[in-house]
Amino acid sequence: MPATDLDQIVNLCKRRGFVYPSAEIYGGFRSSYDYGPLGSLMLRNVREAWVRTMVQQRDDVVLIDAAILGPPAVFEASGHLANFSDPLVDCTKCKQRFREDHLTDPDTCPNCGSKNSFTESRAFNLMFKTQAGPVEGSGTEVYMRPETAQGMFVNFVNVLQTSRKKPPFGIAQVGKSFRNEITPGNFIFRTREFEQMECEFFVPPAESAQWYEYWCNARFNWYVDLGIPADMLRLRAHDADELSHYSAGTSDVEFMYPWGWGELEGIAQRTDFDLKQHAQHSGEKLDFFDQATNERYVPYVIEPAGGVNRAMAAFLLAAYDEDVINDEPRQVLRLHPRLAPYKVAVLPLSKKDTLTPLAKQVYATLADRYMVDYDETQAIGRRYRRQDEIGTPLCVTVDFDSLEDGAVTIRERDTTNQVRVPIADLETEIRARLGF
Ligand code: ATP
Repeated sequence: MPATDLDQIVNLCKRRGFVYPSAEIYGGFRSSYDYGPLGSLMLRNVREAWVRTMVQQRDDVVLIDAAILGPPAVFEASGHLANFSDPLVDCTKCKQRFREDHLTDPDTCPNCGSKNSFTESRAFNLMFKTQAGPVEGSGTEVYMRPETAQGMFVNFVNVLQTSRKKPPFGIAQVGKSFRNEITPGNFIFRTREFEQMECEFFVPPAESAQWYEYWCNARFNWYVDLGIPADMLRLRAHDADELSHYSAGTSDVEFMYPWGWGELEGIAQRTDFDLKQHAQHSGEKLDFFDQATNERYVPYVIEPAGGVNRAMAAFLLAAYDEDVINDEPRQVLRLHPRLAPYKVAVLPLSKKDTLTPLAKQVYATLADRYMVDYDETQAIGRRYRRQDEIGTPLCVTVDFDSLEDGAVTIRERDTTNQVRVPIADLETEIRARLGF
């Protein structure tokens, strides 16, 4: 049974070192989080799983890493300076702020229950503005990107010329984005600093409907392939009044969070909006000349855009389980092996010096290929429980017999089954069980 209460995951994350509240020793920094030893590994695994599917396994997508800080010109052209805002209302009674489009009843304050106490709604721009260089004043303003996408549009020609790709092809990027959210919350679901994984897929205009459908399905299946049950996911098309300023159609992959359906990823038809805007504002030609047809055109764009942190929360919630092993309740994260922070834990049965050299040798062999934990403290049963709780798919136990028979025990997280294998075959056995 996946987690039904967000606190199950929040507590586990804190207790085991996945996610900590930011600046905790100073009383915390609201809705901001630091990722600990396990969380940082898991974030990296989410990113890598995305890059593997979106870039490594395709010959039509390339990866870039663009700057986070950008000049106003970029965001003027993209429309973010004028349009990237949320409607904000204040309750005149309790002084709380809300996103108007998130209110269930637009006349009632969800905090104090007052009726008709809201101010007129006003557009609140979500971009963080800062200043570059030592002199304050005009000409030094810069913005922190609110999405990674503009990096792909402004580099369209650079990539086209250097990568030898032609439409249909994509430019992908994983990196931090920043939004001054009015109401951050729900743990790592909505924060002001977060990481996105986005791909701008450039296509001939006539093919855009077919690619939109393709990406909606492909992105839905990515979450299923990495272990989220399909019945906890749905694809939802936006109503016309929900569409962003650049979008001619958007569908969200939504996940059943403990508080209800929420967005995991959006797949948007951005048409030729962005390339045309940047061409017009920069004076540069941002189009493609198709030598086969002798035609010049501005490609349409399909954009699958997901969040690394949001995906991590969904993977954790879906993987959470409680069961009973030998009359003892256990918490287990049934994470896909690609997402699990550690793939294997090497556990010498005792801390005795006689076992350490062999256990360390086993560790070193496996650590060459995988992220491996090494733990020699506490009773073996408790160590197994800890690995179950952090989602490690396999434990390898080195015991006193290992010194004689050159074999170790592999224990599986999900079944708790154990098998004895010769150390000489260990890597092959592990690879067969993990699938990579
Ligand atoms: P929402 O409607 O939840 O504010 P959005 O539609 O504005 O999200 P997009 O602009 O489509 O989000 O961004 C793409 C993805 O980036 C989202 O699907 C989400 O996974 C992630 N994302 C966006 N905003 C945040 C945030 N404040 N915190 C964490 N992840 C975010």
